[in-house]
Amino acid sequence: MSTSTATFEDVRIKLREQQRISTEDARWLWHNASDAELRELASSVRSRFHQPGSCTYMVMRIINYTNVCVAQCDYCAFYRLPGDKEGYVLSQDQVFARLDELLALGGDLAAFNGGFNPHLPLDYYCGLFAAIRSRYGNRLEFYALTVAEFMYLADHAKLDYATAAQRFKEAGVRWITGGGSEILTENFRSRHSKFKYTVAEYFEAQRAIVQAGLKTTATMVIGFDETIDERLEHLERTRRFQDETGGLASFLCWTYKPYFTQLGGIEITTAEYLRHLALSRIYLDNISRIRTSVLTQNERALEGLLYGADDFDLPIEDEVTQKAGATISLDFDRILVVARKLGFEPAYRSVAGH
Ligand code: SF4
Repeated sequence: MSTSTATFEDVRIKLREQQRISTEDARWLWHNASDAELRELASSVRSRFHQPGSCTYMVMRIINYTNVCVAQCDYCAFYRLPGDKEGYVLSQDQVFARLDELLALGGDLAAFNGGFNPHLPLDYYCGLFAAIRSRYGNRLEFYALTVAEFMYLADHAKLDYATAAQRFKEAGVRWITGGGSEILTENFRSRHSKFKYTVAEYFEAQRAIVQAGLKTTATMVIGFDETIDERLEHLERTRRFQDETGGLASFLCWTYKPYFTQLGGIEITTAEYLRHLALSRIYLDNISRIRTSVLTQNERALEGLLYGADDFDLPIEDEVTQKAGATISLDFDRILVVARKLGFEPAYRSVAGH
């Protein structure tokens, strides 16, 4: 049984001895540690995995292949219901044009992210992914689906998760990432996305993805109306899943953009995001790669490198967050200079060909 930690020094000693902190310790840190103290602890855990001053980045594109979705999450400004005249589905040629542009800009990672579109059969996806693999080979890599979309497609095709994962693998898919998780507590889901899935189902699907030999990641979104306890429950479940499977290649947290959504609200501050990033690094002692979100924090995301992160994306497009207020800069050099000014030398990290 875990116990509450009384002082900052107690936690510091635990971490120095490479002991795991408890959820109660994490709660205590959130409420009591200063920003500087969180930075110090997060940097000490980071140094177990990465050289001080080193960091990596990728140039990538999120391809929103359809905005038609029946899930109706109240925090989403992107989706259109079936039959809406603004609904769309990208053709293979439109996807190829986006991938060609990505390569021309020096990127080599695409992440597909769309809605739960009841009119798209499994063959649309398998055909698309097989065509990409055949056309581009190892010149680029793609995150085929999020876990949430994977679950919807499997259910829609009346396939169990293991069979669905196998079908995608045979179509050339290597990655199904942990998107669509937002806050992984049942209470949060019933408040905001009751048509999506339960948390237990989410992890059941992700386990099947790992067992099929596909790669996956952990994600999290903060800044809705979730409580600190809900954030901690999300981290706790993530750490447990990683203990059990070892399948999570990275953890990425970004922030909710409230503009034009039904839920609305106010954005949390970058300072709060950075504190949470630090807490995630300290708590998730079994995930080596902790990523910071340029997409939602712009160049201030780079300060996340001081709060335990070691990796970031430079995205060239994401309609989902852009519709809700995110802005994207293609001036990559300006962003990389920020990392250098903070004392980090960014190295390009390619997932293509791996
Ligand atoms: S967040 Fe995803 S699943 Fe939810 S409504 Fe938007 S597109 Fe659909």
